[in-house]
Amino acid sequence: LSELFEVNRSTVSTAIAELSSYGIIKGSYGAGTEIASNTWSVLLKSNQNWSKHVLSGNFKENISTLQVINHLEFDKDLLRLGTGEIDHRLFPVELWQKALNNVGNKVTSLGYLEPLGLYELRCEIAKHLNKIGICTTPECILITSGSLQALQLISVCLLKSGSKVFVEAPSYLKSLQVFESAGLELTGISMDSDGMEYWKILPHLRHTGEDNSSVVYTIPTNHNPTGICMSEKRRQEFLEFCITHRIPVIEDGAYQELSFTKDYSPIRTLDHNGMVIYLGTASKTLSPGLRIGWLVAPEAVVKRLGDAKMQMDYGASSVSQYIFLEFLKTGMYESYLCKLKNILKQRLDNAMRILEEHFQSIAEWTRPKGGFYIWLTFRQPVKTDLLFNEAIKAGILLNPGDIYDFKANNSIRLSYAYITEDEFKKGAMILKELIFKQVAK
Ligand code: PMP
Repeated sequence: LSELFEVNRSTVSTAIAELSSYGIIKGSYGAGTEIASNTWSVLLKSNQNWSKHVLSGNFKENISTLQVINHLEFDKDLLRLGTGEIDHRLFPVELWQKALNNVGNKVTSLGYLEPLGLYELRCEIAKHLNKIGICTTPECILITSGSLQALQLISVCLLKSGSKVFVEAPSYLKSLQVFESAGLELTGISMDSDGMEYWKILPHLRHTGEDNSSVVYTIPTNHNPTGICMSEKRRQEFLEFCITHRIPVIEDGAYQELSFTKDYSPIRTLDHNGMVIYLGTASKTLSPGLRIGWLVAPEAVVKRLGDAKMQMDYGASSVSQYIFLEFLKTGMYESYLCKLKNILKQRLDNAMRILEEHFQSIAEWTRPKGGFYIWLTFRQPVKTDLLFNEAIKAGILLNPGDIYDFKANNSIRLSYAYITEDEFKKGAMILKELIFKQVAK
C-alpha cells in the first residue's frame, strides 16, 4: 500500500487500524488483512474495471462518517446513543402476529395495487390524519415506500435540476441527500428555539413574486436532529411568508405523531391555499421495515406523483399496505402509539435528569416535547470527529452534528428512542469521561 500510494508506513498502519475498528477490513495474526465488505472485494477482484462506473451516477457517495455509522449500526456490542430508530425491544410482537394472522385469513391475492396505493388504506390514513387536524380525502393521499420515496418523487417530478430547496440547518441528512442527488441546490436556513428563521430565506430568492423553482423543506415538529418544535406563532408567520413569496412547503411530519403535547399541529392544518405537501411515515412509530409512508397534496399533484411512482417501483409493498391497514382499522395502531409515547416520555425525562446532573458544566442541550432527539452542544470546542472515534473504541456509537450541518461540528445528536434508561446513563457517563479527557489535553 505504501508503495502504491506513496504514503509512509505509519500512515498506512493508522489507516489499517482505523478501517479495522470500523469493520471495513478484518485480519488475524499471521493470516494477513482482508476487506470485510463484499462489495469492495468483488470490485477489486473483478476483471472489469468498475471504478469509473462506481464513481459516476447521480447518487453521491455517503460521507465517510455516515458509511461508518451505517456499518456499525449492526454491531451488537455498541451502545447506540444517537440512533434514530425505535428500540427493537419495544416492537409490538403480539399485535404484529395478530395483524399478520388477520391479513393471512383475509387476503386472497397479492397483485399490483392501484397507482395511489390501496384505497382502503388511504381512507384509514385520511381518518387518522383527521385526528391531528389534517382534513383530506383518499384522492389526495399517495402511499409511498417510506417517506424518503415521497421526497424522491417530489424532487424528480415537481422540481427541475438546479431548483433551490431551503432547509433547516441542521436537517435530516438522508432527506438532504435525496435533494442533492436529484441535482437540487440546498440552502441551509438557521434555527432558533422557535424553529426555522424563515425570514432569512428572503435574500436568497432570485426574484420576488412568482418563483416556481424554489421550495422549503421543513421538519417543524420534533425536528431531526435538534428535537425543536416550531412555535405556533412561527408556523403561522412562516406559512404567510411562503404564501406571499409563492414558495411551496414540504412538511415532513415523521415525528408529528410522537408529540407528548397537543400544542403543535401540522403546518398543513393552517393551509387553505394548497401550499403545503405533508409527509407521514410508519417508520418512526411502528416499523421502518414496513417501508410505508404517505404524502398528502392537492389531487393533481398526487395524481402526477402516483403516475411517476408506477414507473419507479409499481407501488409500495402490498403486504405492508394490508398489514398497516389492519393496524389502523382495528385501533391497534392508536393504542400502541399511546403506550409508545408514554415509554418515550419516561426515557426523555430520564435523559434530561442525567444531562442536568452530569453535563451542566460541559454542554447545553435542547428540551424536546416529543420525537427521539436531543441536540447537545459543547460549551468548549470539542473535536467531534476524534470524539466519534474514541467513543467507538469505548463501545458507544455517536451521531456527530456535522453530518447534519457541516458547521455544527461542536454538537452531537442524542437519541433516547433506541436504548433504555440504564443504557442511556451508561453511554452518557462514558461520553462525559471522553469529553473530560479531550478537554483536559
Ligand atoms: N424524515 C425524517 C425527518 C426522518 O427522520 C426519517 C427517518 N429517520 C425519514 C424521513 C425517513 O423515513 P422513511 O423510513 O419513511 O423513509
